[in-house]
Amino acid sequence: MAKHIFVTGGVVSSLGKGLTSASIGMLLEQRGLRVRMQKLDPYINVDPGTMSPYQHGEVYVLDDGSETDLDLGHYERFTNSPLTRDCNYTTGQIYLSVIEKERRGEFLGKTVQVIPHITNEIKGVIRRLADGDVDVVITEIGGTVGDIESLPFLEAIRQFSQDVGKENCLYIHLTLVPYLKAAGELKTKPTQHSVGLLRQIGIQPDILVCRTERSISREDREKIALFCNVPLEAVIEEKDKDFSIYEVPLSLVDNHLDQLIVKRLGLAAGTLDLRDWRDLLHRLRNPEHELSIAVVGKYAEHFDAYKSIYEALDHAGIHHRAQLRVARIQSEEIEREGPMRLLSGYDGILVPGGFGERGIEGKVDAIRFARQRGIPFLGICLGMQCAVIEFGRNVVGLAHAHSTEFDKDTPYPLICLLDEQRKITDKGGTMRRGSQPCVLQPGSRAAACYGRERIEERHRHRYEFNNVFRQQFAAHGLVVAGTSPDRALVEVIELPDHPWFVAVQFHPEFKSKPTKAHPLFAGFVGAAIERHSTRGERIQPVEST
Ligand code: GLN
Repeated sequence: MAKHIFVTGGVVSSLGKGLTSASIGMLLEQRGLRVRMQKLDPYINVDPGTMSPYQHGEVYVLDDGSETDLDLGHYERFTNSPLTRDCNYTTGQIYLSVIEKERRGEFLGKTVQVIPHITNEIKGVIRRLADGDVDVVITEIGGTVGDIESLPFLEAIRQFSQDVGKENCLYIHLTLVPYLKAAGELKTKPTQHSVGLLRQIGIQPDILVCRTERSISREDREKIALFCNVPLEAVIEEKDKDFSIYEVPLSLVDNHLDQLIVKRLGLAAGTLDLRDWRDLLHRLRNPEHELSIAVVGKYAEHFDAYKSIYEALDHAGIHHRAQLRVARIQSEEIEREGPMRLLSGYDGILVPGGFGERGIEGKVDAIRFARQRGIPFLGICLGMQCAVIEFGRNVVGLAHAHSTEFDKDTPYPLICLLDEQRKITDKGGTMRRGSQPCVLQPGSRAAACYGRERIEERHRHRYEFNNVFRQQFAAHGLVVAGTSPDRALVEVIELPDHPWFVAVQFHPEFKSKPTKAHPLFAGFVGAAIERHSTRGERIQPVEST
């Protein structure tokens, strides 16, 4: 029977619950256990697919096409746990399902209530992950203890240990131990209050993971242990990591968290094998190259909007032992100031995916700049569509060419809705989504990166390259390097006359891992390193992370 770990958070949001949960999953996997991971989000949207990246960060897409919370990206980058639509539920989905059952008369005339109907539904989705060959299910509860909308989830996980037995459940609570400058000390009271709130609703956490800027003294740990009713060994320090998020699992190991979990749950775990992780940190700490990449997007100032892109760039950096400086450049700024001032000096330019017209012309300008100056370029989804528009306008000579997403009356609809999508009018859940096969052209740059010709990548878009223009583009030197197996949909374009110009309709960033960089990102960063070494000059990025 599978064991269950529940991860809750208190005091403030953004404590890194997703990262901590992913780290725990990774450590248990590296001890030979089969882990499944799940996030339950208290917000009412049915999924994050319709939420603005400003509000919620990127929408993370799984193989099965489900649009999920970005924490699932951490799960996938840190673990090998298979992720499906069962791995992310929201209050909206839970209620929707209960209301649909009510409409079908499944509750036999009973009054439908939060307890037991909503809580039963929640317990059902947790149990679903425990089916099959699995040793541990890790369920992260979104939000912060004390939020009104978290209550049904907390009540459900409280009941869960009554259902499956206390010995099969472990509650880990992530809190903040802030440092107060004026007092010159760490404060444990917020943690005490947060645990107090949990205990009021019947959950006694087994382990406290305490986020902190400074090391917590034994005295403070003893205080937390006493007031929060946990043994001293279960007060785990998780100190801020300035260097890399990939240090988090190792610091949890230093504080014996994996041992504690294994002991408490009586898991038949092997010894910990962290060779890959230590190797990646060694690579990060000992770079042999240095380069800078400009990411030109709509939400430049919002880090989480392109979370997986930045992660995938980091992974490619780790792969090449390169220290990457990534500048986030807002495409609207390029419209105002021109690419020359904002993009000069970068070794590579990446234009990510997106929706909406704002900043489109800036992206097109950035791509022109990359194409004309031989700067390595990677275009992703909308980034590929903009590359097609740029090439159509400036190389093929199709004035006012556009995507019908932005200009319905363009004389040259290079990007448009295909017939099957045209029929669909609803906004939510109407896109071409999830893993799709793609066939690469032998000898293409993309095929060289992947080292094979048949690949599967994740999609999330409505618009496509308009096949009417395929021949004309080919005549001007644009190569269609990848298509759907029936050749109907253009998935990859390349410019062979350019040092490295590849654009893809799918989202490779979702399949990159710190221990295994994505082939296209590795290819792109490799080309950027080459450019940097041949230029041999140092640059000062406008803004860097
Ligand atoms: N807006 C474009 C489309 O719907 C691109 C989507 C994306 O970049 N994810 O096709």
